[in-house]
Amino acid sequence: MDDGKKISRRSFLKGAMFLAAGAAIPLAAFSRNALAAGKVSKAAMHYQDKPNGSAHCSNCIQFIPGSGGMGTCKVVAGSISPNGWCLAYAPK
Ligand code: SF4
Repeated sequence: MDDGKKISRRSFLKGAMFLAAGAAIPLAAFSRNALAAGKVSKAAMHYQDKPNGSAHCSNCIQFIPGSGGMGTCKVVAGSISPNGWCLAYAPK
């Protein structure tokens, strides 16, 4: 009788572990897909076309210089000014 309770508890714990593992896999896939799918909007990151003091896109690690004076960003969607700034700013 006592062994039956132990097996039940063990089975329950195994089931709980499977559920937890099953829930973690789709979440991990979603996060990976979200990162691969795109970038954050300018509005969400409070992007502005002017610097924030000495902090600006051209000295941010996320900035990718482009032709014609503008560039792109690894984080924020759209055309990015080298003189812009946003909340994701990270100095080089
Ligand atoms: S993360 Fe923000 S500050 Fe850095 S380059 Fe992108 S838009 Fe500019």
